Amino acid sequence: MPLNFGKAEFVRSAAGAEQFFWDGLPQFAFAGRSNVGKSSVINRLVGRKNLAYVGSSPGKTTQINYFSVDRRAYLVDLPGYGYAKVSRAEKERWGRLMECYFQEARMTAGVLIVDIRHKPTADDVTMHSWFRETGCPELIVANKLDKLKRSQVEPALALIRGTLELGEGDVLLPFSAEKGTGKEELIGLLNAACES
Ligand code: GDP
Repeated sequence: MPLNFGKAEFVRSAAGAEQFFWDGLPQFAFAGRSNVGKSSVINRLVGRKNLAYVGSSPGKTTQINYFSVDRRAYLVDLPGYGYAKVSRAEKERWGRLMECYFQEARMTAGVLIVDIRHKPTADDVTMHSWFRETGCPELIVANKLDKLKRSQVEPALALIRGTLELGEGDVLLPFSAEKGTGKEELIGLLNAACES
């Protein structure tokens, strides 16, 4: 039976490896630079306005948030990266946390959110390589589709594909957290990742 994303709740936060948990249920790890709309994508998936925290003080939190979905899987909200005003200490904390998380690397799928309007940043490329190294399926979500004119979409997707060196089989999904475009496709892909 497909997961009911409408049945989602916050479970806990983890600021260090000792607070990670792997209980055997599938985990979908969501990553993206600050302000890319990661919280908005998660909120859109679960059909709630503010399950994941949207907006103010991007980059301020260096913790991982776990949300259960249908009590059968978890959305794992990895802390955003690339926010210019973050202190060096906070960047280092972020790096250590990610290193620990990816070392354990037991996620069922990774969701990398990029901004459809821009060439992926060096940090996006790094995050993409970390997901690749885990060997788990990776879904690339190109968010803020509603901000582009129709004629701009294909060139934008081509730039993302090229920068991330995506192959034929890699998933790049145009998405709008604002409008809901791509929601059902993403839910379908996450369900498929659980079954494979
Ligand atoms: P996060 O820092 O990655 O969690 O980003 P947020 O979810 O807080 O979103 C950052 C800003 O982008 C907010 O002002 C959102 O309203 C806006 N935003 C997020 N997704 C979209 C989208 O698909 N389209 C548009 N137009 N704005 C979006």
